[in-house]
Amino acid sequence: MRAPLRPVSAVPAGRVDESLPEGAGSPAQERSLKPRRKRLENRLVWSKSRHGLFEECRRAYFYQYYGAWEGWLEDAPPPTRELYVLKNLSNRATWAGKVVHSLAEMVIRNLLAGHPMALEDAQRIALSKLRADFVDSRDGRYLENPKRHCGLQEHHYAMPVDPRDWKASAALVETCIRNLIEGKIYQRLLRLPPDAILDCERMETFLVGEADAPGAGVYAYAIPDLVVRGRDGKIVILDWKTSDPQTARSAELQLAVYADFISGDYEVEPERILAGEVFLRDGSIRWHTIDRAAIAKARQQVHDSIGRMREPLRDPLVNVAEIEAFPETDELGVCAGCRFRGPCGKLPRLQEAGVLP
Ligand code: SF4
Repeated sequence: MRAPLRPVSAVPAGRVDESLPEGAGSPAQERSLKPRRKRLENRLVWSKSRHGLFEECRRAYFYQYYGAWEGWLEDAPPPTRELYVLKNLSNRATWAGKVVHSLAEMVIRNLLAGHPMALEDAQRIALSKLRADFVDSRDGRYLENPKRHCGLQEHHYAMPVDPRDWKASAALVETCIRNLIEGKIYQRLLRLPPDAILDCERMETFLVGEADAPGAGVYAYAIPDLVVRGRDGKIVILDWKTSDPQTARSAELQLAVYADFISGDYEVEPERILAGEVFLRDGSIRWHTIDRAAIAKARQQVHDSIGRMREPLRDPLVNVAEIEAFPETDELGVCAGCRFRGPCGKLPRLQEAGVLP
């Protein structure tokens, strides 16, 4: 039996990272006060973002999941530390998405506490968070503690950004929060009993399908933004999106993986689950049918994806990788937005080709 959801009254911390401990206090405090941690094990756990990066550029995937590993340690070698800092960078689009997700979580938890937030309050808190993040990034505070302070590629790589583009990011966040609070999902939640909200931003790992040998299973992350039990007893999984619904790729696979987890965790038939992407730019919702066939297809895709990720490993049993087995992409368009373009060495080539200034 899980502990009930607890309400919060302050902006929650950023979304949980796949592999690293949470930062706390200043680096000096961390050094003097923290008990020694047991070394973390670098496990290969499937997620949609991991799958996406692997398919986009193997070298960036290596940097993100292997090169940056243990970059948080006090005695991390400088190249590892640099990759760890870069791994935690956002860009304007992902930054706006993170702030909206933080506020969505706060809005839901305050609702659970019996204190529905006013739109103006939620927008004011979001704008203040954006301002603080901007200053942290511009002043390079993320270099000391990338988990605690926001770092943006735009500042790290000294990219010229029109002031109107920064304002557009803030306006997008305000619009998304308006569409969240005034949207039909939240308005329905206001009329449901608080125990109808089953999960909010809970992160779990779970075994996808059966393991063919002890310890040989495929594990995936499930981090549904919101899980609700409707009046008809159906379970609804919702994923907040800040991307453009006209161009956004379908989250069908990701939602089917979440549905697989929820089906097992709540012991409900897949057919009693509904999954939707809620586009907070315009309030539209893209629904996905969940049934046994959808879950079986998703399991197969996850197993295939993990199989491809294991192929280049030097030792798949202990998840050890060597950089040479992870080639760079030739797509300069991909490199232009890559957070690792500095250490990868692609930056001068991008500038010569006129892709970046
Ligand atoms: S700069 Fe390009 S080649 Fe290098 S890691 Fe990034 S995407 Fe891959």
